[in-house]
Amino acid sequence: MPVYEFQCPNGKITEKMVKMGTRQITCPHCGKKATKILSACTFTLKGGGWYADGYSSSKKGKK
Ligand SMILES: [Zn+2]
Repeated sequence: MPVYEFQCPNGKITEKMVKMGTRQITCPHCGKKATKILSACTFTLKGGGWYADGYSSSKKGKK
C-alpha cells in the first residue's frame, strides 16, 4: 500500500499507509479530520518543499 500524507486543520501532517482512494483519515494528534495533501510520490514533497499547496488548490477548482 502506498504512503500518503494527510494534513489536519491544525496543520499537523501525518504520514499513513492507506488504501488507494482514501481521502481522509482521523488525525492521531488531535482527532480531527486530516485530508490527503498529495495523491502520490511523497518523496517529491520531502525533496521539493511546499508545492503541494498549489497542487491541491488547482486540482480542487470548482465543479
Ligand atoms: Zn491534528
